Amino acid sequence: MFSSPVDVFVVGGGPAGLATAIAARHHGLSVVVADGAVPPIDKSCGEGLMPEGVEALRQLGVSLPADESFPFRGIRFVSDGVMAEAAFPRDPAYGIRRTHLHRLLLDRAAACGVHMLWHTAVAGIRPEGALVASTDEKETELVRARWVVGADGSFSRVRRWAELDRDNEAAPQNKSLRFGFRRHYHVAPWSSFMELHWGRRCQVYVTPVSRGEVCVALISSDPKFRLRNDDALDEFPELRARLRGANLISSERGATTALRKLRSVYRGHAVLVGDASGGVDAITGEGLCLAFRQALLLGDCLASADLAHYQNAHRSLLFQSNAGLARRRRFREASRLERNCSRLEIIEGVAASEIVFDGKILFVTFFWLPGVTNHDYWRTLCPAVEGTFRTCFHFPVSALGKYLQQ
Ligand SMILES: Cc1cc2nc3c(=O)[nH]c(=O)nc-3n(C[C@H](O)[C@H](O)[C@H](O)COP(=O)(O)OP(=O)(O)OC[C@H]3O[C@@H](n4cnc5c(N)ncnc54)[C@H](O)[C@@H]3O)c2cc1C
Repeated sequence: MFSSPVDVFVVGGGPAGLATAIAARHHGLSVVVADGAVPPIDKSCGEGLMPEGVEALRQLGVSLPADESFPFRGIRFVSDGVMAEAAFPRDPAYGIRRTHLHRLLLDRAAACGVHMLWHTAVAGIRPEGALVASTDEKETELVRARWVVGADGSFSRVRRWAELDRDNEAAPQNKSLRFGFRRHYHVAPWSSFMELHWGRRCQVYVTPVSRGEVCVALISSDPKFRLRNDDALDEFPELRARLRGANLISSERGATTALRKLRSVYRGHAVLVGDASGGVDAITGEGLCLAFRQALLLGDCLASADLAHYQNAHRSLLFQSNAGLARRRRFREASRLERNCSRLEIIEGVAASEIVFDGKILFVTFFWLPGVTNHDYWRTLCPAVEGTFRTCFHFPVSALGKYLQQ
């Protein structure tokens, strides 16, 4: 197939794979991407791209067309009829259909000279490269490559082949495994915020993805809880009213989501990126953003042949995403919480509000999302922040409404 070895062979042409391919091409490396699917590749996703993700895309040379995306300026929690909202400190986030995003990445990759093989599953990796299956999957052919990048999603086979999940770390902790479903509705976005509706049995988030459509994603620990079931929106009467009469413009699509941490993201010449390299719960809306930032980093590290640096920097990116949001995503514009809150932060499924009285912080309250994170998790990841406050109260997020009404 290729007479001479390529520098980088990428398994998986989803967002992480294409972004890595583009980043590697920026350094002049030769790149081949293989994916078993055919573009444009769709996936169950809330389709919100956080501001850092938009910036990473810009660095990859991808800009979002105004007629195929929609900006939103912050996050709004809605729980038991009570709303709390806060804006991003600087730039907006964007909603964009996965198929549009995929096409934009694909066009950019083609323009950069990435060689793409679609409908081409990868059947194994070898020290010399990767084994590519023929279309009927009866034969395989070795493509020789200096580096093999596993961008093959949360059930990564490259991860298994490279024995990067052999110590069980890759198995999602059962309690963090959740199920996500999404559908699109033909309705003009009613808010300039991404809305997170918190129910007792599930969360539903609504992302504006164009002037005339919204993406509705439901996340729950119960796989039977589906958007297509009429009672799924019972807990959210306001949302149900908004969507009443709106035409459905996509069928329901589902996927699992889980927290996943790996001790190492490379071995020998095989290296992981995107969901293959670990993940955050879908409710954080951080998966794509992380993938693009990792891809930029990996492009640099492949060029300098320094995967140890990638390993370290990858860990701190995940850490920032999980915990450093206390500093990074500080929603300084005061939320509309009726109590004297100076800010609302959303940290890995945790909404944290600081209660200020007479200019002094009295205490900080964390509303955590059962099944996604917990007090111990917070304590481990963010001791510095926790140490800053004298008293911390921790409530499940379902208490948010009641708390605010006190
Ligand atoms: C319900 C839900 C909602 C979400 N909402 C958001 C959100 O609002 N914002 C956000 O940023 N993130 C969100 N995420 C997370 C986001 O979707 C993922 O982080 C993102 O898709 C990761 O991209 P990836 O390229 O790593 O993996 P994937 O998108 O899974 O792509 C992997 C690719 O690898 C290919 N592949 C797999 N195996 C092989 C093989 N052997 N050979 C060849 N090809 C192979 C697949 O065909 C696929 O194209 C959500 C996730 C879920 C489940």
